[in-house]
Amino acid sequence: MSIAPGSGLVGSTRARQIAPSASMALDARAKALKAEGLPIISFGVGEPDFPTPEPIKQAADRAMADDATHYTTVSGDPVLRTLIADRLAETTGLPYKWQQVIATSGAKEALYIIVQVLCEPGDEVLIPAPYWVSYAEQVKMAGATVVPIDTDPATWKLTPQDLERHLTPRSRVLMLCTPNNPTGAVYSDAELAALAEVLGDRDIAVIVDEIYARISYVKVGRWLRAAPQMANRSFIVDGVSKSYAMTGWRLGWVTGPPELMELASALQSHLTSHPSSITQRAGIFALQNDPTVEHTVDAMVGTFRERRDAIVTGLREIDGIACLEPDGAFYVFPDVRGLYGRPLGEKGRVVHSANEVAAYLLDDALVVTVPGEAFGTPGFVRFSYALGMDQLNEGVQRVKDALKT
Ligand code: PMP
Repeated sequence: MSIAPGSGLVGSTRARQIAPSASMALDARAKALKAEGLPIISFGVGEPDFPTPEPIKQAADRAMADDATHYTTVSGDPVLRTLIADRLAETTGLPYKWQQVIATSGAKEALYIIVQVLCEPGDEVLIPAPYWVSYAEQVKMAGATVVPIDTDPATWKLTPQDLERHLTPRSRVLMLCTPNNPTGAVYSDAELAALAEVLGDRDIAVIVDEIYARISYVKVGRWLRAAPQMANRSFIVDGVSKSYAMTGWRLGWVTGPPELMELASALQSHLTSHPSSITQRAGIFALQNDPTVEHTVDAMVGTFRERRDAIVTGLREIDGIACLEPDGAFYVFPDVRGLYGRPLGEKGRVVHSANEVAAYLLDDALVVTVPGEAFGTPGFVRFSYALGMDQLNEGVQRVKDALKT
């Protein structure tokens, strides 16, 4: 028996105000078109195209053989949480205890839990735009209000002046993402310190998403190294998804001040309890600085850099596109406004928005991209370069042909 639409159920107001993830929807569309046999090239994906390093997979095999298949401690095995705390201590010089870490089913769950722990309905959450798609929806789920702060396309970084201008008595949280999705911008320690200075001792918490920290072509600034005085109201989110090519394993984490991490753990105990026990064992191995694993990751980052150079060079050759060279992650976010109103490609198609550019590229070039509207910044289109060099070159050529004026 199927359930008929129009049964009278509409879903809660809370659920209905949430927009589905645009990048995941596009990825699903690309996979469906590929399954139909169309030669789709996807610049839409938000995950490394590399396999998980072999020794990590073997650690998961051993976990199963050893029957590590039952519940672990809520919020994760203390061994895993100790490794995470030690890593944070290493990069920041601050002492972190394992109880200040919760391991989650991906960084996404970590962000969700922390937003739930920090926000009251009506609180304002400051988010530099463009921002990763889920931040805004997670803030809405907590009943709080998103205050986007547009950043300058010349740098894509929040400035102290812009932060200051958006502070109100209701400001409760600032969310930062460095290296950034979708722009690839990376903040330096000095830039972070300047932002911390604006916050001063105001009652504002800071969530810093460092999920791309390992994938960077410049030195990555660290919030707590730059502003250790903020440790008692800062939450650092990270995970293995991007750095170890482990998106499907679902392992992330967040660290923060002890009292609030206790609340976070209590919340998680009624949600997922902890990430999969097998994944945790794999994560423990990933975080042990195994030379083979680290070498594999370094090689992956080197390859990303070559691709970054190739895609930036290619996109800059297109009249009407302006492309900043990103310093980290695996995305470029070029300005496509110069294409508006001109007849493009053989059919002379005319576009007036990034949404239309992305739709046109999919229809005519069979190339998937994500329009800036999804990240709160129209006028730009995100290209992920997590795909092989042959595909990348072929995709860029198709984009060039489609966007010829
Ligand atoms: N933060 C950012 C900025 C991301 O791009 C992503 C993944 N696309 C996540 C968090 C979530 O990662 P995870 O797979 O660990 O949930």
